[in-house]
This record gives sequence, C-alpha cells and structure tokens, in this order.
Amino acid sequence: MSTKTHEQRMAAKKAVVDAKIAKATEERGVTILLRGNGKGKSSSAFGTLARNLGHGKQGAVVQFVKGRIETGEHKFFKANTNVPWHVMGHGFTWETQDKDRDIAAANQAWETTKQLLQDDNIDMLVLDEMAYVFKYNYLPIEPVIEALAQRPLHQTVIITGRVMPEALVEFADTVSTVKDDGHAFRKGVKAQAGIEY
Ligand code: ATP
Ligand code: MG
Repeated sequence: MSTKTHEQRMAAKKAVVDAKIAKATEERGVTILLRGNGKGKSSSAFGTLARNLGHGKQGAVVQFVKGRIETGEHKFFKANTNVPWHVMGHGFTWETQDKDRDIAAANQAWETTKQLLQDDNIDMLVLDEMAYVFKYNYLPIEPVIEALAQRPLHQTVIITGRVMPEALVEFADTVSTVKDDGHAFRKGVKAQAGIEY
C-alpha cells in the first residue's frame, strides 16, 4: 500500500498536468470530428459554435442532410446571430431514392464549403452530417483533406456523422466517438422538438 498522503499524490498529479500544459503552447484552429452511433454529435457541434460566438467570433454552418422539419438550432441561430447557415440536400437517401439528385446536392454543398474554407473571416465552420457524403461515395475524400489543410490557420472545423473515413480521422486533431448506451427511442419515446431536432 502506498504510504503517500492524499496531499502528496495530488501534488504529484498537479506537477504532471502542469508539465503537459506547459508543453501545449500552439494556438491555432483545429479539426474536430464527432462520430459514433450515440446521441450528441450535432448538439455538441452547435454548443461549441455558441461558445465561439460568445467570444465574439464568426461562425458558419453547412448542413449536408436536410431533414423534413426545420431544427430548433437553425431557428435559434437564424433569429439571434448572423451565422450564415446553408442547408443542402433534399432529404434522406432512403426517402428520395434518387442517387443523381443526392450527388448533385453533395457537390453543391461542397462548393459552398470550399468557399468557406478559404474565408479568412470564418473562425469556426460546422459541417453537420458531412460524413454521410463519404459513406455513400458522393464525394472523394482527397480534395476535402487538401482544402482542410489549406484553410486559414485560425479556422476551426467541426465535422459530424456516424462513420468517418479513416483518412479524415488521421488528419483530424480531436476525434470524439459518441457511444450509444441507450436511447429513449427504444423505450418508445418519439423524436421530440427541442430534444431531437
Ligand atoms: P443530436 O443532434 O441530438 O446531437 P446526433 O447528431 O448525435 O444527435 P444523428 O446521428 O445526427 O445524431 O441523428 C439525428 C437524430 O437521431 C437526432 O434526432 C438524434 O436524437 C437521433 N438519434 C441519435 N442517436 C440515436 C440512437 N442511437 N437511436 C435513436 N435515435 C438517435
Ligand atoms: Mg447529427
């Protein structure tokens, strides 16, 4: 058994944390991936965007999948901020059953995204559900990584989606996987405004 006191253990821990903090000196935008089957990816992205705006920074959003109903976050940011918000796509593939239309929508969303990745005024760019276009091979990943690499140094990009291409995971700085350990849907609770959308 350790003879160290609680105070000694805490002091040792603090020294390790302090050393790590002293090493992390870089200041720049980062690429954040939020993936996995659990609930919390898009809401984390928009929460971080709110945090960014709170510090007086400029954000922009591209949503790669258009739902049937306008989301609460879109309504909120539209009414209370000047965040440009692009909703692309025409709905889910299994509803539209129209691959050509989906590819055209993906390309259109990518054209908008490319402009924003070159825009020095944008501090934070949220690419919601972008992973979806890679899953269905609607867009190649290489030009996307190239554009991410060339973007302004201060710009942070947050990409959400259940499954991410490996090349993107390797490129990213921060990768969080949200695990599904339960969901109200499986208890018979329907998707509710203000909680799911
Ligand atoms: P949120 O927008 O709530 O943060 P998300 O972005 O992590 O969710 P998506 O994969 O984009 O999740 O799914 C969108 C919708 O599906 C949301 O309404 C979300 O609540 C719901 N959802 C997410 N995960 C699950 C799940 N494991 N089972 C059922 N519904 C889910
Ligand atoms: Mg989402």
